This record gives sequence, C-alpha cells and structure tokens, in this order.
Amino acid sequence: MTGQPITPPLQTNTLKRRGLLFILSSPSGAGKTTLSRMLLEADNHVEMSVSATTRAPRPGEQDGVHYHFVSDAEFDRMIEEDDFYEWAEVFGHRYGTPKGAIRNALKEGRDFLFDIDWQGTQQLYQKDAQDVVSVFILPPSLDELRRRLEARAQDSATVIDARMERARAEISHWAEYDYVVINDDVEECFARVCEILDAERMRRTRQTGLIPFVRELMG
Ligand code: 5GP
Repeated sequence: MTGQPITPPLQTNTLKRRGLLFILSSPSGAGKTTLSRMLLEADNHVEMSVSATTRAPRPGEQDGVHYHFVSDAEFDRMIEEDDFYEWAEVFGHRYGTPKGAIRNALKEGRDFLFDIDWQGTQQLYQKDAQDVVSVFILPPSLDELRRRLEARAQDSATVIDARMERARAEISHWAEYDYVVINDDVEECFARVCEILDAERMRRTRQTGLIPFVRELMG
C-alpha cells in the first residue's frame, strides 16, 4: 500500500480507523508508569505522548524520552504560542502536553498514551472529548501506596508526605474517568487495561473504514 508510515502498518487485516488518546492516571506510586511501560512494550500501535516539564530530571531520566525538560522561560513561550493541549502546575513545577504531531497522527490511526493527572485529563477531554479514553488506576490501599513510594527511594520523607497528601486529592477524582482499575496485582491490572484499549479501538465511531466496507459488502 502507498502512503504508509515507516513504522509497522497499524491495524493490519482490519479496517482503517481513527486513533485515540489513551489516558492512564493514578496517584504517583500506584503503578501507572509501570503499566505504561508494559503497554508500550506489548503493543507497537501505541506511542507515548512526551510531556514538557520545568522540573529537573531524576536520575536515569532522559530528555525527550521521559519528558522534554525545559526552562521556565521556554515553558512561557510554549504557552504564548499555544503549543499545549493542556498544562498544569504540580508540586511547584509546570507540566504540559505539546500538541505537536498528535492531531494529524490520530487521522492515521495512531494511538497516544498519556501519563497525566486529573487536571490534564479534564483539559484534554474538553479539547477533544471524542478521542479520549481515560482509565484511573487505584492502589489497593494507602498503606501500600506509601510502601511503594518509600521503596522507590528517590524522594525525601517530606516529598513522600506531600505525595501522600496529593494522592488523596487525586483519588477523589476517580469518578470522572471512563474506567477504573485497582492495581493489586500488576499483571492482572495490565490485562484489564489491554482489554479496555482493545474494545475502545473497535468502537464503531472510530472505525472510519466501515462505511466503504459496508458499501462494498452490500454491493
Ligand atoms: P513526576 O514529577 O512524578 O514525573 O510527575 C508529577 C505529576 O505530574 C504526575 O501526577 C503526572 O501525572 C503529572 N504530569 C506529568 N505530565 C503531565 C502533563 O503533561 N500534564 C499534566 N497536567 N500533568 C502531568
């Protein structure tokens, strides 16, 4: 077929479809980063939307992979130029989703994964409700959440306390999501997330190739 992107053709053997914006939200430590990594490894039809942030990189984080690390001045410029789908301030730093190539990519049937909080989800939903599928990941308990944050050992006790405080606020938004999954066992939780994505890809309104297909079918 002509005009295919260099990446493996999406939806081989199935109809042309519109991509979607797949949001995974959870309080930090509830597993969305692990789940995102698992999804990206398991499914090459989905790619990460890389946010811009003004916070400093953590050990092991790479610019352009985990985030685009930008200065305050650069972030201001991006806001002025309307470069963001959404942006928010979290823990005194700003985070935003650059529009970049996302809009055109959706028409080609590419899916984007977003690891963003409830504020980002609301804004993205307002800008483009038809393409958003949102999933909230809950921890099995707050004790377990704290244990996971401590095990990460990347943050000081004060930062962990602040994250626990914010976790409660984050969890209070669970009912604004399309789907909610409890991350007790990560493999189990991942299986649920994959089922959600599979079903959402099959939605009639996303299968833009259906009309020509049915026309052909009916002669
Ligand atoms: P961290 O500093 O731990 O990587 O992220 C802190 C918080 O910022 C997380 O809750 C994460 O979901 C949120 N975040 C990351 N990128 C974005 C973004 O582009 N927009 C919004 N609104 N939140 C983001």
